[in-house]
Amino acid sequence: MPIDLRSDTVTKPTEAMLTAMFQAKVGDDVFREDSTVTELETRLAAEFGMEAGLFCPSGTMTNQIAIKMHTQPADEVICDRSAHVYIYEGGGIAFNSGCQVRAIDGIRGQINALQVEEAINPDDVHKAPTRLVCLENTANRGGGSCYDWASIVAIREVCNRHGLVLHLDGARIYNALIHKKETPKQYGEVFDSISICLSKGLGCPVGSVLVGRKKDIDRARRIRKVFGGGMRQAGYLAAAGLYALDHHVTRLEEDHKHAKALADALKGKDFVADILPVETNIVIFTVKGRYTAAGLSETLRKHDILAVAIAPTQVRMVTHLDFTPEMLSAVQGVLAGL
Ligand SMILES: *Cc1c(COP(=O)(O)O)cnc(C)c1O
Repeated sequence: MPIDLRSDTVTKPTEAMLTAMFQAKVGDDVFREDSTVTELETRLAAEFGMEAGLFCPSGTMTNQIAIKMHTQPADEVICDRSAHVYIYEGGGIAFNSGCQVRAIDGIRGQINALQVEEAINPDDVHKAPTRLVCLENTANRGGGSCYDWASIVAIREVCNRHGLVLHLDGARIYNALIHKKETPKQYGEVFDSISICLSKGLGCPVGSVLVGRKKDIDRARRIRKVFGGGMRQAGYLAAAGLYALDHHVTRLEEDHKHAKALADALKGKDFVADILPVETNIVIFTVKGRYTAAGLSETLRKHDILAVAIAPTQVRMVTHLDFTPEMLSAVQGVLAGL
């Protein structure tokens, strides 16, 4: 079995998680009769201080439903140039919502209040109505970077002044909460909707939850059906989410320590030009000289280590629940010999 650092999505359910899944009470969730799904939705909504939640098969779906419920066709959506909603969701903003994107050159995946304000279109028939701002925290292409709370609040203030809606792609929000010692409730107070992935650092096989106001989530539920995301005895999957919230949140600290250790092992290698500051569980670095990104990942693969070339000279490694201290030592050993 190779040591898999391609993504935190590669984890398999633990024995204890599987037991919790097998024991779940289920029903037909499209009829709203699955008490385990309802428990997960209610629990996450309450944790984030939101009115309601909606369990979906993927983070792409929770983001795309949020964008659909907040916009009309031909509206403009503001996000960072490297946002997942923009570059990794298959053109979904255009396909599902008929909106266009105003992509902003942020720093490590993060945009600021001034950039948002400057990107807002005036009320002019030539211009697309600016409607929605999407932030990503942690920012994947930013190397798992975390927003400072003050920057988020400043963006909220711009949104308030201009009547814009603010959505958070919180695929790895728990990594940010742990790193920044913030609370979910802070986020619920500032964002109109939040997408939370269970199948990343939290180690579930499937699932994301969208939280927001009741009226928005009621509409989101209709959109989910249209997108084909209404699931029946989904309580088996939701049970994994409930288990993960109890057991896999505080341990994210360990993933962050492992990521820092990987970055330390890369520091000073002659083929490493630059490493993005490591804040959470993602290490993104630029290669030079002996290796291209593809070349390095091929070499690592020969040593049974999987990493992704995310650009011609950029490699990404992501730590997770199934990446053990023993695996870390093995990777450190291989890197020492390269
Ligand atoms: C993984 C991820 C998502 C959702 O991905 P799915 O694979 O559809 O669950 C959304 N945003 C970010 C930043 C992600 O990393």
